[in-house]
Amino acid sequence: MTTALINNAKQYVDNVFSKLQSKNAHQPEFLQAAEEIFLSLVPVFEQHPEYIKHNILERIVEPDRIVSFRVAWQDDNHDVQVNRGYRVQYNNVIGPYKGGLRFHPTVNESIMKFLAFEQIFKNALTGQPIGGGKGGSDFDPKGKSDAEIMRFCQAFMTELYRYVGPDVDVPAGDIGVGAREVGYLWGQYKRIRGAYESGVLTGKKPGYGGSLARTEATGYGLVYFVSEMLREANSTFLNKTVVVSGSGNVAIYAIEKAQHFGAKVVACSDSSGYIYDAEGIDLKIVKRLKEVEGKRISEYVTYRPNAVFTAGCEGIWTIPCDIALPCATQNEINGDQARTLIANGVKVVAEGANMPSNLEAINEFLDSGVLFGPAKAANAGGVAVSALEMAQNSSRTYWTFQEVDAKLHDIMKSIFNESSEAAKKYGYEGNLVVGSNIAGFVRVANGMLVEGVY
Ligand code: GLU
Repeated sequence: MTTALINNAKQYVDNVFSKLQSKNAHQPEFLQAAEEIFLSLVPVFEQHPEYIKHNILERIVEPDRIVSFRVAWQDDNHDVQVNRGYRVQYNNVIGPYKGGLRFHPTVNESIMKFLAFEQIFKNALTGQPIGGGKGGSDFDPKGKSDAEIMRFCQAFMTELYRYVGPDVDVPAGDIGVGAREVGYLWGQYKRIRGAYESGVLTGKKPGYGGSLARTEATGYGLVYFVSEMLREANSTFLNKTVVVSGSGNVAIYAIEKAQHFGAKVVACSDSSGYIYDAEGIDLKIVKRLKEVEGKRISEYVTYRPNAVFTAGCEGIWTIPCDIALPCATQNEINGDQARTLIANGVKVVAEGANMPSNLEAINEFLDSGVLFGPAKAANAGGVAVSALEMAQNSSRTYWTFQEVDAKLHDIMKSIFNESSEAAKKYGYEGNLVVGSNIAGFVRVANGMLVEGVY
């Protein structure tokens, strides 16, 4: 880097970002995630010219590699279907690549890269030895039979196995990939490798290497994180009104823990719409519909006639609440929706999904004094327990639910403390977006300086 740039952090960051824009012009989600992080890092480069000298930002934003492959599989009519599979191996400075697999029709290279890029910093924040990666496919699991899901997963792993391994790259679940899919993927990996490499995937069922509390980890972790935010504001979940979007794994266990802490959760959703239950969501019904029967959330009102189902998802943010937990997917809260939440008195917003708020929404929350918990800190509990699953697999042991849950709780507290300390140190007290980006980045950047490879 030239001396001029070393002395001008803002210009350095702008330069790297404009190169990134021209190289990735057709990847809006990736550029959105990168921009959010880049904006936070200017103060770090001001204080650490050595990162500019070693051009850390430009190096970190280019993935180590991206693998894309054909997945051909046979449906129940014996027709051959073709999907595209991906694995983005972004950064393995502090551990093997680690991150979930998403099976959803919207999956493309931009989505994979935004998720994998975020994952680097999220994983670093957990303090566990895991690098950043992500993968998936544009395969749509909706409406597929169990046998079709199995054949798809086997075909996917028949290609992916060359690139993964317990010390190389460790996938897990994400949207559309749960314990069932992880089981099929794992069985196929074991068949091909002819070895019991338990730690090649996390999110397995307990009994063949899965960690207890992994299913609950992201949702519970989110609520532990919010408890820390509230504690700093001398408050708790008790009697708070909470709106949660989504009704997948993250949402369900966020609702469970928020209710456990005395909150009243009044809404949740799926891709078809949302339910509002003024008396408080009956989680047993949601769990049965979503985890056992695979039904739509609209069915909830047949069991709770006083609840209301509304088609379409956007309206969920018009429900007045103290705490909003977006746990569905990326870009589900824009500037208008953020302003509505604020006008209705929201005090805390914390992200269970990855990048659910766009940049305008984040700025609205920060500017109006809403406590805002960004995804890479607030939803890191899932991948943190994945790292604990890897540790248990490596040492061929199991921990109890209570042991894992206690470690998760400690990790979420320390993510909150580190993010909040970093924000303070760099002059952005109370801004957990800046704090978590900086805390995660610094850990990886220091590793890159030590490695010293170009
Ligand atoms: N997909 C989850 C995430 O976004 C979990 C990843 C993992 O456990 O590896 O962090």
